[in-house]
Amino acid sequence: MAQTLTPPTDMLSRLREAGLRLTPATHAVLTMFATDPTWAPTHAEVLEALQRQGITVNRVTLYRLLDRLAGCGVLERHTDGAERAWRFTPAAPSPTDHGMATRFECDACHRQFRLSQATEATQAAADALLQALADMGHKAQRVDLAIHGTCAGCDPGAHVGE
Ligand SMILES: [Zn+2]
Repeated sequence: MAQTLTPPTDMLSRLREAGLRLTPATHAVLTMFATDPTWAPTHAEVLEALQRQGITVNRVTLYRLLDRLAGCGVLERHTDGAERAWRFTPAAPSPTDHGMATRFECDACHRQFRLSQATEATQAAADALLQALADMGHKAQRVDLAIHGTCAGCDPGAHVGE
């Protein structure tokens, strides 16, 4: 497997725009997210992964770092209903204001997969949902759709249509 050893330039430029410094811990965190885009860890899991690489970072410092990375659009933060914890994923490459963010989360391994295909169909569905809300007088701006299930990696014997 090819390893990305430096964070992608779009992550770095968002970091710079937000005035955040690229510390060794920040570098390591961004590199891990860039290496496996389906990785959707909690704070504690990021801490563990850093420790496995021999990077010592204060728990509170890491919590603050992840929140700031989410705040400046490098990462996205999602609630994990079952565990009542936040999970972090790399932010979508080009977030759209009125589109629909569709992701699939495996309930077994908690990896997240973006559905970038299906854009026309999801856009039509998003438009219909936004229009329905507009008809009720609400001002919805975007649809964040999360689909849950078991990924191919966790359920290799699964048959389509099962
Ligand atoms: Zn899985």
